[in-house]
Amino acid sequence: MEEIEKLIIIGSGPAGLSAAIYAARGELKPLIIAGNTPGGQPTLATDIDDYPGFPDGINAPDLAHLFWKQAERFNTRFINEEVESVDFTKSPFLINTKTKKLKALSVIIATGSSPLWLGLPQEKQLIGRGVSACAVCDGPFFKGKKVVIVGGGDTALKESIYLSKIASEVTVIHRRDELRAQELLQQQAKAKDNIKFILNAGVEEILGEQKVTGLKIKDNQTGKTSEIEADGIFIAIGHKPATGFLKDQVDLDKHGFVVKTNETETSVKGVFVAGDVADPRYRQIVTAVGSGAKAALDVEQYLDTLD
Ligand code: NAP
Repeated sequence: MEEIEKLIIIGSGPAGLSAAIYAARGELKPLIIAGNTPGGQPTLATDIDDYPGFPDGINAPDLAHLFWKQAERFNTRFINEEVESVDFTKSPFLINTKTKKLKALSVIIATGSSPLWLGLPQEKQLIGRGVSACAVCDGPFFKGKKVVIVGGGDTALKESIYLSKIASEVTVIHRRDELRAQELLQQQAKAKDNIKFILNAGVEEILGEQKVTGLKIKDNQTGKTSEIEADGIFIAIGHKPATGFLKDQVDLDKHGFVVKTNETETSVKGVFVAGDVADPRYRQIVTAVGSGAKAALDVEQYLDTLD
């Protein structure tokens, strides 16, 4: 007889693995399609100082490994492939990888998102050595130091306000003469003495060999370049959710994030969502883990209604 899974979880980051731990303990026998970054974003990060339970901090890939091992302990099954397409128009839902055609009564989408980068030569090399895409994660390493934030949206301004409480000086660099962020955040950021703005400017170069020492910036109107000193540079130019395979299957917002109709529900009954793929705002491991647990509990309740 054809196999129909009770639950397929797409994605193996903190949200997907947390959903698996809860679902497996609830006897749903979850199957994870792990994708091409097993363990998710933390496997690409450095140190984590804000995940509760590790008072001395923990190496990010080690934390991802612990999540994975815990999901395995409760008999989660894994397929180390990417999902290529889905059909959520009828139940059971169809999920296709390169080599498998799978069917499931319920799905949790937990494919995450990844930060957009400027594409400068030194940028990736200096991640963890002054370059970051997450102020809440890395800001505390810049106590009393000078930092720069690139971007003019809600994230950039929220992060500038957050960093202004830690760093001695925060400079927001934005490519246009007008900020994109909501008015309230603009007012709050402008009211801070140690936040300054450089508008109409782009980053030409990140300076520093072993760690960030400053930036070369270019005035977009005059073409003039100048250098500024900085210990840290936070890139806040948006995130790209991994939802290409979901187009026309569930509702996505204009940035491509999955639209939640309730805490963990999507526009399709039986398809749930957890973690950064539906969260442009918090993007923390601890919030992803929490939403994964909620999604698994909601799936359990949903499957009960099918009986
Ligand atoms: P965003 O709204 O897309 O803003 C990205 C910013 O980066 C824009 O100012 C953009 O400039 C700039 N940018 C993009 N590409 C760039 C490049 N290559 N070089 C230099 N600058 C570049 O992204 P976001 O701020 O991460 O927000 C994403 C969504 O989450 C938004 O809907 C936002 O409202 C929401 N959000 C909400 C909250 C909240 O507290 N409610 C917090 C964070 C995010 P331009 O303006 O010139 O395009």
